[in-house]
Parts: sequence; C-alpha cells; structure tokens
Amino acid sequence: MIKSKYLENLIDALTILPGVGRKTAQRMAYALLQDNPEKSLFLSDQLKNIDTKIIKCENCGMYSDFDPSMSNKINCPNCNRENVNPDLVCVVESASDVYTIDESTNYNGYYFVLQGNLSPIDGRGPSEIGLDKLEKRLKEINIKELILATNTTIEGEATAHYIKDIAEKNHINVSRLAFGLPINGEIGFLDSETISHAFNERKIL
Ligand code: ZN
Repeated sequence: MIKSKYLENLIDALTILPGVGRKTAQRMAYALLQDNPEKSLFLSDQLKNIDTKIIKCENCGMYSDFDPSMSNKINCPNCNRENVNPDLVCVVESASDVYTIDESTNYNGYYFVLQGNLSPIDGRGPSEIGLDKLEKRLKEINIKELILATNTTIEGEATAHYIKDIAEKNHINVSRLAFGLPINGEIGFLDSETISHAFNERKIL
C-alpha cells in the first residue's frame, strides 16, 4: 500500500461526479493536494453548503438559498419570479437546463424541474422523477401552455409523451421544443435522424 487511505477515499469520492472515471479522479485528487491547499479548502466549504445552504423547492424542483426565516415556497426564485407570464410552464429534466434556457431565450414563464427522465430499467418511474408533483401542480395552477423541454434521447421522448398525456387530461395545450438543424450547421455533416426530424418539423416561411 503506497497510497494514503484518505487519498484513496478522496479519489473514490471524486468518481461520483458525472463523467469522472478513476483515472481522472486520481489526477484531480493529486491536483487538489499539490496546487493551492486554500483553493481545495474553498472547494470543500462549497461542497458542505450543499447540505446546509442550498434547498430544493417543493413546488418546482429548482434550487435556491436556504433562508430559515422564510418558507421554501416564498424564497424560490422561480415560484417568486417577477413579471412572470403566468400562462406558461416549461418542463425540463434538470435544474441546469433552466439556466441554459434562461440565458439563451427571452422565455418569462414558470419552470418545472424533473429529477431526470423516465427509465423503468433504472428504477426511475413517474413518481421517482416528480411527475406526480407536476400533475398536482397543473391541477392547482391555471396555465394555457405547457412547454416540453426534455432531452431528445429515447428516455427524454418517453418522458415527454407521458407529460403530454397528463397535460391533455387537464385540458392544457402542449408544445415541444423544435428538433432541427443546428445554427451554422452543414446538412452534409448531420446524422440521418436529425435531418429526418428537421424535415418533418419544417415550417412555411
Ligand atoms: Zn419553486
């Protein structure tokens, strides 16, 4: 045993990050030890905040700062959004998708964040990803359009279909983000599935 037991534990812990295998975790662990130790302690403090300072909203699944003087619902930046269009709810698979859409579009409705997508093989059914909460929320609020912004993977598509059924049961119009050609993309370099979707989703100019 030429490695420290604690160093091994650190490497193991780093492998929980998405896309980080053992080799990368090992490189990260040595970098944390060799570089500025103050930076590593700063990282450690931020990780501790996950448990004590960041809270998930019961209504919409978004993250916000924990403020013991306020209820979770009031403190949520999404549920408490100013100048919001109350007719729209956009459903995404992860909270990071909210930031991506918010930074790239002028969308001003509400968001609802799922906990991933439907994948029965991996034990993720409707209630595991929060679809029961979405259904409850759709019954409570009066919206005109539900925008599906789930991923274009097989699981994302299955999730979108399931949500479409829930929304239609509640007489809410459903829209889906368009599939198509990427901006600045060349048709010759695209896969046939993308071209087929773009072709079927074409619109009159
Ligand atoms: Zn919220």
